[in-house]
Amino acid sequence: MSQQSSAALKEMDRQHLFHPFTTLKTFDSTGPALTIVSGSGSTLTDSNGDTYLDAMAGLWCVNIGYSRPEMAEALAKQANTLSYYHAFSGMGTDLPARLAARLSDMAPVPVSRVFFGNSGSDANDTQAKLVWYYNNVRGLPNKKKIISRQRGYHGVTVLSAGLTGLTNLHEGFDLPLPMIRHVRPPHRLWEAEPGMTDAEFVAVLANELEALILAEGPDTVAAFIAEPMQAAGGVIIPPAGYFEAIQAVLDKYDVLLIADEVVCGFGRLGVDFGTTAFGMKPDLITVAKGITSAYVPLSACLVTPKVWDVVMAGQDMYGGFGHGYTYSAHPLAAAAAMTNLDIIENEKLTERAATVGAHMHRRLQEEFAGHPNVAEIRGQGLVGAVEFVRSTSPMTAFDPSMGFAAKVTKRSLAHGIVTRALPAADTISFSPPFTTTEDEIDAMVAGTRRALDDVVKDEG
Ligand code: PLP
Repeated sequence: MSQQSSAALKEMDRQHLFHPFTTLKTFDSTGPALTIVSGSGSTLTDSNGDTYLDAMAGLWCVNIGYSRPEMAEALAKQANTLSYYHAFSGMGTDLPARLAARLSDMAPVPVSRVFFGNSGSDANDTQAKLVWYYNNVRGLPNKKKIISRQRGYHGVTVLSAGLTGLTNLHEGFDLPLPMIRHVRPPHRLWEAEPGMTDAEFVAVLANELEALILAEGPDTVAAFIAEPMQAAGGVIIPPAGYFEAIQAVLDKYDVLLIADEVVCGFGRLGVDFGTTAFGMKPDLITVAKGITSAYVPLSACLVTPKVWDVVMAGQDMYGGFGHGYTYSAHPLAAAAAMTNLDIIENEKLTERAATVGAHMHRRLQEEFAGHPNVAEIRGQGLVGAVEFVRSTSPMTAFDPSMGFAAKVTKRSLAHGIVTRALPAADTISFSPPFTTTEDEIDAMVAGTRRALDDVVKDEG
């Protein structure tokens, strides 16, 4: 693209596109940081012809890499055969049925039915509605509250934004809705007392959850929602025994568990699901992102027999199930998911996420361990994170208004690397495509380390 048309495109964007999660006033004067025009494997190319290694697979989602011909062919074939048909009123199409069966087979818990949506956010709204319906059918109309965790990320719709435990999604939007509560996340660095063992920390968090349920009244608490590994909130890996302890509390008070597998599902942690990685026993599972590697939007709610049997019983009380989207069970999305899952299986990409991930963790340690502004290097599978602080002794955070991690990601771009600064944590994350080579990982990590050096130098 010529420089002139690249500039014209950026100006069109600046004037017309309402960007999500963007500082609008700054954007209004600067326009887009990058205009990406093509992608291949782990490499993105912008409108100026500059290339970048994408250490974030978009938003933790392009797991099989960009622009794979098999995906283009599968989508073209489906568009040429049946571009759309809906699933309302018992109507069906072939690929969504096959995909639902496949997801039920591979799910980490027994699944009775799969409900398709278009995004992680709308799927979590569907989960909340299922939870409320479940308790209405059971004659427990007051049992409706949903407990989430601070720094949890569950989406942005009216309900799911409240589940998300990040205040910038609430302020100015009259959220969260009144039935939502939050507890502390299992983030040792800031939430555990110095010297606490994992077991002590887990016991404290489980006791806090129990105290909250008792204070609210167990007859009012319906569900607990959790990402196996909290991704956007800081790449927070639960300490050993965490979900077992939480599960014991949930079981005691008849509270459902929703596992939000939107990031972890389909191999990101080097195993099929985070649920298995961390010993969760969910009643409902949300998936999105990695189900199609984001080639087209698709999400799904996996419904276990415990919930499904009650939903079925509710049909006699409420009549037909009054929920669904025009695009629920979209055949194009199902075609993308089937081919994406084939690629993951045939190329053993989940196993690859584990081995390339191990290499990435080694390289992160080599480049960042011992740095005076690095508090923690963490992650699992093909997810990594580096958390920055003003000082490690005593542990002192940077003033959040300084946006230290955001400065590192901005400088990383100058070194040809796309990373992400996570909200509510001075943390940068790495979550590259599963197909990323070890050489590319080396370049991503080394480029980001150079960016950190630049920022430290700039800040004096
Ligand atoms: N749940 C988790 C764990 C996520 O990370 C996200 C998005 O990043 C969502 C839900 C929301 O998904 P979407 O942006 O597709 O609505």
